[in-house]
Amino acid sequence: MITNDNVRKKFRDNEIPKLYHPLVHIFINFGILIALTIFFILKLENVVWYEWLWLLVLFLFGNIAVFLIHKYPLHKKGFFLGAYSFKKHAIQHHSFFQKDKPEFDYWKDFYIVFFPPEVVIGFGLVFIPALYFILSLLLGPNSVYMILLGATSYFLLYEFVHFSSHLPENHWALKIPHLKSMWEHHRTHHDPKLMGDYNFNIVYKLSDRLFGTYYK
Ligand SMILES: [Zn+2]
Ligand SMILES: [Zn+2]
Repeated sequence: MITNDNVRKKFRDNEIPKLYHPLVHIFINFGILIALTIFFILKLENVVWYEWLWLLVLFLFGNIAVFLIHKYPLHKKGFFLGAYSFKKHAIQHHSFFQKDKPEFDYWKDFYIVFFPPEVVIGFGLVFIPALYFILSLLLGPNSVYMILLGATSYFLLYEFVHFSSHLPENHWALKIPHLKSMWEHHRTHHDPKLMGDYNFNIVYKLSDRLFGTYYK
């Protein structure tokens, strides 16, 4: 019989590279995202009140953008980078973490919890510089840095909240009501019968409510 324990053992044996170190993974992902966040904060100068509204716009836009990325390329084949993202997420992440056991066992399991480092490196070295280039043709420096700050800090929040959604149910961090609520939301998403249709939000439940994909 194929149990989730067998799936996890097989994944650890066959997919996690022998040289994989969770601290290096954390250092790359969080190092890049935290460094960019601090850098963009430091670039802000003499901000006027309405420029802060960019952060609100980015947090709304980020919620919808991540919802669409999760609902489509991560859960359906045939989209941009579909084979890669579908395999990493819908196949590997979802078969490793199922509703009955949403928590990781070992530090090495971080390999399948956090985004692959190449995605975060691509975000930091390609996507953000390209966005900077385009935005700086259209907007003033504070607006540009606010947008980049919003994009980077939303990604950081995604990594953090998704990680906390794979903690054991009795973990102290889940005493924070919002984290516990997102933990439950994501746990439902890890039900194989529901994962393709419901609960795609990770940071907060806006798009699932807006687009009718909220399953309690
Ligand atoms: Zn998913
Ligand atoms: Zn997950």
